[in-house]
Amino acid sequence: MTIGVLALQGDFARHIRMIEGLAAKAVEVKTKATLHSSDGLIIPGGESTTLAKLLHKHHLWDQVVQFGRTKPIYGTCAGLILLGTSPILPNLDAMGLIDIAVQRNAYGRQIDSFVANLELHLPDQKVAFEGVFIRAPKITGFGKSVQPLAWHDGNVVLAESDRILVSTFHPELTDDPAIHSYFIRQVAASMQHRDIQGAA
Ligand code: GLN
Repeated sequence: MTIGVLALQGDFARHIRMIEGLAAKAVEVKTKATLHSSDGLIIPGGESTTLAKLLHKHHLWDQVVQFGRTKPIYGTCAGLILLGTSPILPNLDAMGLIDIAVQRNAYGRQIDSFVANLELHLPDQKVAFEGVFIRAPKITGFGKSVQPLAWHDGNVVLAESDRILVSTFHPELTDDPAIHSYFIRQVAASMQHRDIQGAA
């Protein structure tokens, strides 16, 4: 299994370290070839407008959208903004791979970064987790296909639908591998599922 980490901008190095710490293979994704050699993709935090522009510039935007139709993607913070349905800028659409409405920089300047104790309701376990929020977005609405997995102050901060996992916070900035480990399990399950379908 190979986990690709989009490495155009932002916080990708720590995601790679986290994946390698779980004894899985991680690759920096900067090209179509490295994207397609990956079984799952992490889109890190950073600046969503810059990330979107770089993805278009490198002709990777449509490739990532296609990827997300068959393989798992985990987006943190700016990555979540790219995967949702709300325009990133008035003339810059998001990918719409998960049915969530998103407000960027939703906590305002005064509390633009904070740490909060969360409880993750993963399908197979409930775990305590330290959420690091940095100029974080809020999920302001979500469709029936979306399963919320954690909340902070009444807002959903971790959610998934089919192959797409998103968090408004940065688990790669903690030492806790619970979410990356969950994503790796999802990628393994999706690979198995595709093998079965391929054999049928
Ligand atoms: N505020 C950033 C944006 O709007 C996201 C911040 C982050 O990824 N930590 O893209």
